[in-house]
Amino acid sequence: MALIVHKYGGTSMGSTERIRNVAKRVAKWHRAGHQMVVVPSAMSGETNRLLGLAKELAPSKASLSYERELDMLASTGEQASSALLAIALQAEGLQSVSYAGWQVPIRTNNAYTKARIESIDDARVRADLDAGKVVIVTGFQGMDDEGNITTLGRGGSDTSAVAVAAAMKAQECLIYTDVDGVYTTDPRVVPEARRLKTVSFEEMLEMASLGSKVLQIRSVEFAGKYRVPLRVLSSFTPWDIDIHAEAASGTLITFEEDENMEQAIVSGIAFNRDEAKIALRGVPDKPGIAYQILGAVAQANVDVDMIIQNISKDGKTDFSFTVNRGDYAKTMDLLRASVLPGLGLDDLVGDTKICKVSIVGIGMRSHVGIASKMFRALSEEGINIQMISTSEIKTSVVIDEKYIELAVRALHKAFDLDQPATA
Ligand code: ADP
Ligand code: ASP
Ligand code: MG
Repeated sequence: MALIVHKYGGTSMGSTERIRNVAKRVAKWHRAGHQMVVVPSAMSGETNRLLGLAKELAPSKASLSYERELDMLASTGEQASSALLAIALQAEGLQSVSYAGWQVPIRTNNAYTKARIESIDDARVRADLDAGKVVIVTGFQGMDDEGNITTLGRGGSDTSAVAVAAAMKAQECLIYTDVDGVYTTDPRVVPEARRLKTVSFEEMLEMASLGSKVLQIRSVEFAGKYRVPLRVLSSFTPWDIDIHAEAASGTLITFEEDENMEQAIVSGIAFNRDEAKIALRGVPDKPGIAYQILGAVAQANVDVDMIIQNISKDGKTDFSFTVNRGDYAKTMDLLRASVLPGLGLDDLVGDTKICKVSIVGIGMRSHVGIASKMFRALSEEGINIQMISTSEIKTSVVIDEKYIELAVRALHKAFDLDQPATA
């Protein structure tokens, strides 16, 4: 008898009909002899609805007390869907109990709205499993040291599921969603995108960090750290399909680079519309300047992504970087108030209408000319590249947001991702 963790996303939990389907699927796994822990997301649209209500009453303020209440609020979405799933399972004739994060407890730090899981006490869940119950654990939430409810960042139910699977040494963590696996790129943007049967952990980590929201990046980090077998699959197949076929469907995240790996040089294309670009012009080219600028930004808890400093001319240079779009206004204000005066500058330009497009593949390690192929494909579409960053297994460019779909399609084609892999 194996312990299996299932996670169901918002669309999969989107109506009572869908919740009933989830319950039937979970019941099938339970009846096949598995111990089942299920981690649901809030019903689709619910987290946005709740956060929208808060925004109506007060526009986002980065104060701790405001963010504490956002977490109190947003966590209710998962509490409702979890209870509904337990009720649906009971209606299927199974014993089932649901727990909020704090009841497990799942302990996190106190970084409201983006908390990190620190530990999970599995005693209560294990006792229920041993008593034959299906246990539902709310996704997306935990509790800090002082007993406050915290949430794990958007898409965080993936991380809850993988963390529970890691803590309980589950045999596998199955992430059920509204697509049937991880694709070469978002299939909603490129209909020719292909499902990958396997994707390496490193590629998945890059794809998630570069914007493929099919898995939250922290869930992939957890899977890597604790070697949790992780599979992404569809919740939209008939619930009563053969369990062995279901268990082998979707995309498996692999930790080995050897057998069965698809041998493409570029495995996938990720994109991110959530970035904004900031440039300081005519910055003095001398030691300590990057620190003066980015130190202040880091102090304000803003993550910086790409950074570019041009070659200087007459002792001056241009310094550009990107931040999350949600941090754009705050960063511009901060630079104007406390960085520009110290540098004797007043030339600050920002652009929120940009996006980042990336190609990812472990094959890039051993092949040259991949980045230039990317740049050629973009130039053939007349797309101007504003920034470039590379690492061992990815190349990213910042371009005008209006070209995002054109760029992703062009790259998908240029790297033959619509063709079957030659594994
Ligand atoms: P859930 O609510 O189940 O967590 P999400 O909306 O968070 O679902 O993630 C699934 C979505 O991720 C898909 O509907 C798809 O549009 C998007 N997506 C982005 N990149 C990819 C990719 N490379 N492969 C599959 N899906 C992707
Ligand atoms: N409900 C949360 C969100 O919408 C968490 C999740 O779905 O994973 O971000
Ligand atoms: Mg998700």
